[in-house]
Amino acid sequence: MYELTIKGDIASAHYLKGYQGRCKDLHGHTWAIEVTLKSNHLDSIGMVADFAILKKQLKEFLMPIDHVCLNDLPYFKDNNPTTENIAKYIYQNFAKVIAPLTIKQVQVWESESASVVYYE
Ligand SMILES: [Zn+2]
Repeated sequence: MYELTIKGDIASAHYLKGYQGRCKDLHGHTWAIEVTLKSNHLDSIGMVADFAILKKQLKEFLMPIDHVCLNDLPYFKDNNPTTENIAKYIYQNFAKVIAPLTIKQVQVWESESASVVYYE
């Protein structure tokens, strides 16, 4: 089995409903995003997929959630824009972009010392 990881980031704002702490008020993060794919199949030249294409797809996918207030997006009206829910959103929606390739996990870093991994 092979695992490929591509990285991206978003610099966006959010606030957390129902949270008693500093994150209840509007503020920003640069979330660093690592998407790991898994496959046991290589193409005729020995690649699972072309990193250049994967990185372009991730960049385009992240564009609508970059430099925005995440709370304004439909998905995050019902799902608090926690790092957990951001990871789940990326996992479930980027999976559609890169199908038939399979995502193993999405790891989202909200700071250099705190991250969430989401997988199904
Ligand atoms: Zn925050």
